[in-house]
Amino acid sequence: MKFPFLSQCIVLAIIPLATSAHDDHASQDRIAELEAFFSTAAILNGPEIVDCTLSQGMQTKCFSITVRPEPQDYTPGPWCPTNIEDDASKGGIWFADGKVMDVDGDFIATLDELYNDGEWQLYDPKTGEIRVTDTQEACEAAARPDVAEEYQNYCVQCLPEYMADDASMTYVIPLEPHVATSDQDTRESGAGLAYNGVRLDGPAPVEAILSAHTIAAFDDCGGHVNTHVGYHYHSVRDCLPGVEAEHFHDAEDVAEGAVKIGIAMDGHDIYSRFDAAGEVVSGLDNCGGHEADGMAYHYHAGEAASNAIVGCFKAETGCASEDSGLICDASDVRRGPPPEGVDVPPAE
Ligand SMILES: [Zn+2]
Ligand SMILES: [Zn+2]
Repeated sequence: MKFPFLSQCIVLAIIPLATSAHDDHASQDRIAELEAFFSTAAILNGPEIVDCTLSQGMQTKCFSITVRPEPQDYTPGPWCPTNIEDDASKGGIWFADGKVMDVDGDFIATLDELYNDGEWQLYDPKTGEIRVTDTQEACEAAARPDVAEEYQNYCVQCLPEYMADDASMTYVIPLEPHVATSDQDTRESGAGLAYNGVRLDGPAPVEAILSAHTIAAFDDCGGHVNTHVGYHYHSVRDCLPGVEAEHFHDAEDVAEGAVKIGIAMDGHDIYSRFDAAGEVVSGLDNCGGHEADGMAYHYHAGEAASNAIVGCFKAETGCASEDSGLICDASDVRRGPPPEGVDVPPAE
């Protein structure tokens, strides 16, 4: 009796050890890969492996990374021009009519025609001066969902320097995607995190912004600031050239490739919209993703004017929060990012 009992003990002891050693090794590799991918981000903590609960209740392992929500590889802006005589170099962009439009002086001067609404008046007709939110108080007041009367008819911009010195965003993203039983919404968690540490956000609430006769302009990179989540993108333009090797969709045409620009909140990778030849990658599903050429499922960024970097998620999502001590439970409906000013309706 003694011998079999002993061997059983040994077997039981060895299996967990071997599994855990293997897990540790794989985890270390994954962390090293993430460190390399986010090497140009302003990382405050991580990436490290944490326990997490995903949007449909899956309990699993995630990586957590805390960043200063500001790009290190370029200076954001400009957003709002200051006079209707200003050219496109003085302003950013806006999405209208399914197109990316320059927010220049002429754009501001003709908003009434664009939206067929005579209440648009963002400038002083005598001087041509554009009403721009030029203080933190003004940008926060104008970016609220219930815009005060005095901040209607403004070009809204929050400057990066309005962010607190210790502003941070923490992303908790599954190490391995867990397929969801239904498409997951991007509005709760945002779309993902770009390699430069900038939030790839869900859709901007364009209707709410316009209803207050405000334009929350994006810079030419598709980003703007709110003082809670920092600088974030609502579209991917040519400011994310990528840090990783190209991936090829068609082995017969090695010129066809796209670059990995971020990691989605469901753990899938996000690649550029365009391949190496400048063509739009085609054959994507309703969320903007596909499996191609033996690669795991991944997304390609949506059209810049579509106001959707990723249309939806095929897997359960993790969490994004300005609380760096966050224990991610994405199945809790009270979770999610903090009030995002122009980007999030008021809490109930
Ligand atoms: Zn692809
Ligand atoms: Zn926004």
